[in-house]
Amino acid sequence: MTPTIAMLIFVLGAVIWFIIRAPARRRARKAAIKVSGRTVRETALMAISLTGLGILPLAYVASNFESARFRFLDFADRPFVPALAWLGALVFAASLWLFYRTHKDLGRNWSVSLDIRESHKLITTGVYASVRHPMYSAFWLWAIAQALLLPNWIAGFSGLVGFGTLFFGRIGREEQLMCETFGEEYRAYMQRTSRVLPGVY
Ligand code: SAH
Repeated sequence: MTPTIAMLIFVLGAVIWFIIRAPARRRARKAAIKVSGRTVRETALMAISLTGLGILPLAYVASNFESARFRFLDFADRPFVPALAWLGALVFAASLWLFYRTHKDLGRNWSVSLDIRESHKLITTGVYASVRHPMYSAFWLWAIAQALLLPNWIAGFSGLVGFGTLFFGRIGREEQLMCETFGEEYRAYMQRTSRVLPGVY
């Protein structure tokens, strides 16, 4: 494992994630929205998360190509540790598998933001059986993989900071929206599940 291969694994992971998400986006366009939780605050949180998990690390990778003249994050480089990068590749693979499963299970109920659709169904099976936010678990895994793969303190850890901001800024409102929509059914579901890590949190 070399730094270049680790960076290419990160880019490949991002491409696969995009491919997994594309059909969900297409499907979601067909399912009308009944209640929208898309506020300015939500949009800002999504922009912060996208910057930390995508824009910043990909810009870092681009700036490391041989011909790049603009190595803007050089000052924050850290030593490259092959074993950590291998671990990062494994964690990224687990993240992508979980992403795939959550998109399959959530189907038309998926939304990039906080929306309740017409004929929205509460999903409590598949990867939703033991945790109620497995897609966010997958994003946490992505952020951890990013920190392990990219040998730079800023480009590596921006995913944890960016997604962490979205997660903690959104999770309470999402659960409140789900409680308002599904009432007792969601409260009972909360009782028997963890948020992102089975049995822990
Ligand atoms: N928090 C979930 C879903 C993220 S997508 C996860 O991490 O897996 C966000 C959208 O999913 C929101 O519009 C929300 O209303 C919807 N949603 C969240 N949990 C759901 C569930 N268990 N069943 C159906 N829709 C859900």
